[in-house]
Amino acid sequence: MTPLAALIAERIGGEGPMTLADYMSLCLLHPEHGYYTTRAPFGTAGDFITAPEISQMFGELMGIALAQAWLDQGSPDCTLAELGPGRGTLMADALRATRRVPGFHAAARVVLMEASPPLRARQRAALGDHPATWIDRTDDLPEAPLFLIANEFFDALPIRQFRRDAEGWRETLVRVEGGRLTLGLAAPRPEPALQHRLADTQPGEVAEICAAATPIMATIAARIARHGGAALIIDYGGWRSRGNTFQALRVHAPVDPLAEPGLADLTAHVDFEALAQAACPLAHAFVPQGAVLQALGIGPRAARLAEGMEGAGLKAHLAATRRLTAPDEMGTLFKVLALHSAQTPAPPGMT
Ligand code: SAH
Repeated sequence: MTPLAALIAERIGGEGPMTLADYMSLCLLHPEHGYYTTRAPFGTAGDFITAPEISQMFGELMGIALAQAWLDQGSPDCTLAELGPGRGTLMADALRATRRVPGFHAAARVVLMEASPPLRARQRAALGDHPATWIDRTDDLPEAPLFLIANEFFDALPIRQFRRDAEGWRETLVRVEGGRLTLGLAAPRPEPALQHRLADTQPGEVAEICAAATPIMATIAARIARHGGAALIIDYGGWRSRGNTFQALRVHAPVDPLAEPGLADLTAHVDFEALAQAACPLAHAFVPQGAVLQALGIGPRAARLAEGMEGAGLKAHLAATRRLTAPDEMGTLFKVLALHSAQTPAPPGMT
């Protein structure tokens, strides 16, 4: 058992079976043994690779999209925020790409929400001497126009999972059996948060809810509704949660999510419908990542970068471009949810 597995088993021994949400929170963010709190797991050498780590073009184009939205809204003094910035690559690329947008850097205060101390240090290093502040929760976002980005943040938030049966919903719980962590189902009961899913699920089907996302989205929406701004939320998932999407990755391969708590990344698909609903009264647009990057000009940008390349570097660049956009790679699995007030246009690339 990993030290964290022993700790979880002990807690279950004392308090009874644990929800997947509690299990995920402990595995990802336990102060001593958590996955994000103890390592910087991204990149080819890590457990998974994210879009900004695949190519600089991702952060550049997303940064330009936010800067364009800022121009479209009259260039106000604002917050430029990111949730879960990882190694800080996206924000660094976005800032470099928008350096020459007149007035943008002077008007935009960079605010990063990050739970992991080692990752905060990475982000500080990635941003060089660009000023930035770190916050623990969205409530600490300044009362100002908000231009926000979050890539692969919401998939790391804890979910609860339920299987429908004839009598109600049975929650997936982590228990201890024979000295090992195993999954089981609680007794059926009505689940108010899944009332609307009775219409589109059958007994035997699985639905997931991410309660932690709701207050985060509500706060972002309140800032944007009051002061203006826009949010770009990029992740894998769909419009409404379907089936069991709880998964663990280690060294780029799926592993048993219970096998090595704290050592593997745990995620679930993002239910974008739930995010958009929590962001009421904002307007939203929902477009596959590949289409957004094409609309933002990844083709010409890739060609421009390719001019100075040859050999293995060029090959890797072309593969990275394809990986971000192709339908059989990240292009359609990943989606962009854009949120903005109904009085302002959708950010560029989102129509
Ligand atoms: N956006 C980055 C990293 C994605 S991994 C990229 O695309 O490469 C998820 C990130 O969210 C990590 O930085 C992790 O430490 C952070 N994170 C996870 N849960 C969090 C929480 N509840 N509050 C703040 N940050 C969190």
